[in-house]
Amino acid sequence: MDAEQLREYGHQMVDFIADYYKNIESFPVLSQVKPEYLCELLPDSAPNYPEKLENVLDDIRRKIIPGLTHWQSPGYFAYYPCNSSTAGFLGEMLISGFNILGFSWITSPAATELEVIVLDWVAKMLKLPQHFFSSGQGGGVIQGTSSEAILVVLLAARDKVLRRIGKNSIGKLVVYASDQTHSSLQKACQIAGIHPENYRVLKTDSSANYSLDPKVLSEKISNDMSIGLQPFFLCATVGTTSSAAVDPLCSLGKISKVYDMWFHVDAAYAGNACICPEYRRYIDGVEEADSFGMNVHKWMLTNFDCCLLWVKDSGALIKSLSTNPDYLKNKASQENQVVDFKDWQIPLGRRFRSLKLWMVLRLYGVEKLQNYVRNHIRLARLFLGLIDSDPRFEVVAPQMFSLVCFRLLPPPDGQDDGNKLNDDLLHAVNGTGRMFISHTVLSGKFMLRLVVGAPLTEERHVEEAWKLIQDQASVLLGTRLP
Ligand code: PLP
Repeated sequence: MDAEQLREYGHQMVDFIADYYKNIESFPVLSQVKPEYLCELLPDSAPNYPEKLENVLDDIRRKIIPGLTHWQSPGYFAYYPCNSSTAGFLGEMLISGFNILGFSWITSPAATELEVIVLDWVAKMLKLPQHFFSSGQGGGVIQGTSSEAILVVLLAARDKVLRRIGKNSIGKLVVYASDQTHSSLQKACQIAGIHPENYRVLKTDSSANYSLDPKVLSEKISNDMSIGLQPFFLCATVGTTSSAAVDPLCSLGKISKVYDMWFHVDAAYAGNACICPEYRRYIDGVEEADSFGMNVHKWMLTNFDCCLLWVKDSGALIKSLSTNPDYLKNKASQENQVVDFKDWQIPLGRRFRSLKLWMVLRLYGVEKLQNYVRNHIRLARLFLGLIDSDPRFEVVAPQMFSLVCFRLLPPPDGQDDGNKLNDDLLHAVNGTGRMFISHTVLSGKFMLRLVVGAPLTEERHVEEAWKLIQDQASVLLGTRLP
């Protein structure tokens, strides 16, 4: 690395990225390219000799940016958000600049120690129970994604129960979650060797806003135990992926205690709102949990990737995931004086992610982060009011956090269930390139999801999005109505 070249190129790159953000509204939010567009534009082998940065940036402008979906655009309302911010970006620059791998304390003591401190800070912001703080048996760790968080706790829970009942009983282990739980749990079960028939997907419905009914859980557990199976893992969600439903943590946690099951709470998106005192109630009952995860890269201005995971008993994670080869042995680890985060995760190598979160927390402060979330929830409420004012539309699930699920009503002749109509509307709206929303299916109904969560979204963007949806609906209904 040549420091002077870095300085020169670095200035050019920051200018390039600043211009990108300045002009972001001029790009179609959802990329409009066709599959394999890029292989027609790029050579089929790497250059033999160095090229100029200007030429590369020119290609990025002309060939790469058209193939981007602009998650940071103020017209981005799809899935759940993936936030960036100046502080998060500067943090990422530093992470890349130092480029350390903090797998053991010794490999960069600051990386491990800052992670411990910052996870305690956020635990305090969320008013998490004391057992999730580093002062006890547990603590927090940064994973890349919620999928990794779910996998590591599932492995820890599996091994914990197998130590008790014997390794040969793996075929008896049963996992419980609702039909709204993110698919990452199913993937984790596949990886962890849980018998595919022992993943219980418990049915939810609109009567309880798609949250998991503790009675349904209890019945299933009793049933499974009566045929000799071993319940061992329960996953609850605060803010499900489709409709941001909230599972009742208190009752579910109590059931998990009765059966000595590991209780994981996945709050990937909505957990971020719980730093506001008025939304903290959504995680009431987290005291019963063995682990709790949330993605600050979704909704706390921290650039991807940064998933925070807290566990009550870090020993369970370490027992499942630690290895101790000669080439990694060192005095601090041997003397058990330090945390080695390599034993809390799947890979060995790990990025210095706490640095960007620390930058976000310091450059914005808790109050600003709270107001950021509040503003998005306010904008979602504004959108809800706009839908309510147009009888052609219906709101399909209660607004939760900054998500609104809605649909265009089909013509009243009863011939059409509205699913294709709404699919057509989704494509029409996204095809304009001016905004991007996503969809889901609940109780057989295809519906549209609008989530306010991009950092640059303002009131006018929500109003423009609504106008666009209305206009496209008029076109569709105009062509469909006799
Ligand atoms: N859990 C929930 C509730 C989610 O909504 C998502 C993704 O949106 C995930 C887990 C998976 O997140 P990740 O991409 O961090 O694995």
